[in-house]
Amino acid sequence: MSNKTFTMIKPDAVANGHTGKIIDDILQAGFKIEAMKYLQLSRAQAESFYGIHRERPFFKDLVDFMISGPIVAAILEKDNAVESFRTLIGATNPEQAAEGTIRKKYAKSIDANAIHGSDSDANAAIEGSFFFSQFERF
Ligand code: ATP
Ligand code: MG
Repeated sequence: MSNKTFTMIKPDAVANGHTGKIIDDILQAGFKIEAMKYLQLSRAQAESFYGIHRERPFFKDLVDFMISGPIVAAILEKDNAVESFRTLIGATNPEQAAEGTIRKKYAKSIDANAIHGSDSDANAAIEGSFFFSQFERF
């Protein structure tokens, strides 16, 4: 399980035409795509996915943003996937993201930050199975 992670290319990056470049960055970094889909989240789905942040002051803005347009959801495979992918995407706030990271290159702000990456093996499994029923045991 530690060789898998879950990602979403967020609505800002999809709307700005960065999907192809971001997928290329992910492949160039050595990740294999196990599953991928293009979809728009419903409010209920976004609230459920980000339920851990329900009490945070930015929760409503986060949900509004995540349902504002289509996203690309994917399960990725590589050794040490969760940590390796968090390094590839960079800090939550793109102003603090390292040079060359996906958020540094494509994100405009802390709320419209281009991409999601799971923060633990356990959450990768939960998040992956949220979108891909065939990965329930992953
Ligand atoms: P993600 O879970 O999307 O990969 P992350 O793990 O880097 O991002 P989290 O702390 O899980 O960051 O926050 C989830 C999302 O909520 C962030 O990606 C960001 O869009 C938004 N967010 C987090 N902190 C703030 C904040 N202080 N103000 C506005 N939005 C925030
Ligand atoms: Mg997170």
